[in-house]
Amino acid sequence: MSDGPTYGFDTLQIHAGARPDPATGARQTPIYQSTAYVFRDADHAAALFNLQEVGYIYSRLTNPTVAVLQERLATLEGGVGAVCCSSGHAAQIMALFPLMGPGKNVVASTRLYGGTVTQFSQTIKRFGWSAKFVDFDDLDALRDAIDDDTRAVFCESVANPGGYVTDVRAVADVADAAGLPLIVDNTSATPYLCQPISQGATLVVHSTTKYLTGNGTVTGGCIVDSGKFDWSASDKFPSLSAPEPAYHGLKFHETFGILAFTFHGIAIGLRDLGMTMNPQAAHYTLMGIETLSLRMQRHVENAVKVATWLEDDPRVDYVTYAGLPSSPYADRAKRCYPKGTGGLFTVALKGGYDACVKFVDSLEIFSHVANLGDTRSLVIHSASTTHRQLTPEQQQAAGAGPNVVRISIGIEDADDLIRDLDQALAKACG
Ligand SMILES: *Cc1c(COP(=O)(O)O)cnc(C)c1O
Repeated sequence: MSDGPTYGFDTLQIHAGARPDPATGARQTPIYQSTAYVFRDADHAAALFNLQEVGYIYSRLTNPTVAVLQERLATLEGGVGAVCCSSGHAAQIMALFPLMGPGKNVVASTRLYGGTVTQFSQTIKRFGWSAKFVDFDDLDALRDAIDDDTRAVFCESVANPGGYVTDVRAVADVADAAGLPLIVDNTSATPYLCQPISQGATLVVHSTTKYLTGNGTVTGGCIVDSGKFDWSASDKFPSLSAPEPAYHGLKFHETFGILAFTFHGIAIGLRDLGMTMNPQAAHYTLMGIETLSLRMQRHVENAVKVATWLEDDPRVDYVTYAGLPSSPYADRAKRCYPKGTGGLFTVALKGGYDACVKFVDSLEIFSHVANLGDTRSLVIHSASTTHRQLTPEQQQAAGAGPNVVRISIGIEDADDLIRDLDQALAKACG
């Protein structure tokens, strides 16, 4: 099929980027388990290496199965191109890589996946990069944090672990006024619930490990480019606007226009950082995406039922689900996330740390794992696991205090989930 805006999301999640295999007619996208691709002749090889012709050279850079996934994700997010890579964390480094340099900083929301807080506050320092964390509900604080060395603004649409919702349009307006790209991690919302590019985001990153693949089988990541940022409007992004020494002086923006970021991601990012997605992982993720909208509808429906039940339970202190009418984010959720706010939230127990640990140990249907976005319902005590590397202040700011359990609601029967939570709360709270 030819992809076009005339097709709806449910059609595109199955068909975008894919066509019957030209050699065999295979209807499902084959797993092209090949490292290298035969050149037609020496001229063809030279044209590929000069980026004058698009094709396959070596699977660290491009692979036909991965390419289908890239096209599908770019289509579902409303972008012009996408680069897949080995994990969500790889995608974040790959997104920042062309923008940053020694002494440069990214301004990031305090409400992020715990691993991202660690990556940004510790590991990127090794590259001479740094991050400044601010509360993105406070747009003045965001404006104040941006300085001459800032090269990107970063947030999650539906933020881990609390399921808080970001007003992407409002944040994008601030980034735009400062001449900076906005990177949105859309892992928890997925393009079914939120399309950050339509709200002004420059780049969208994903951990495809989560809802996109959907059943906890493979890790992967992706960066989708809106194609809308003018990399040459200032001298802040020389990797894209000026001659790139890592590619014999090629000017990516001048040469590739709206595809500059995507080409840079493949020709330099994957080539030199090597955080490549393998074709098996792309296959599992393509299979998952075929049912994304159906699963997300069920995740939302179940999360609303379970969060509503938990909120009314006397053993529960509070529930952070933005889809609840009582949430301080309820109005924003309705305005910015009309199809729902996903399946992720935290629940605080009146019994504190000890009750949380007992609660997690007593659940039977819920699995105690460091993952989210599975068909299965999952639970984790963030303070003792995913957010363990954070200071108590960072834990509180991220919504992962010691009295809080993170829940990722699956697509099982909601009544069974509620019964399981009830019996575990009975054991945890005496
Ligand atoms: C899991 C996750 C990541 C990291 O992705 P990996 O695939 O585990 O590397 C980043 N952001 C969010 C919101 C996540 O949930």
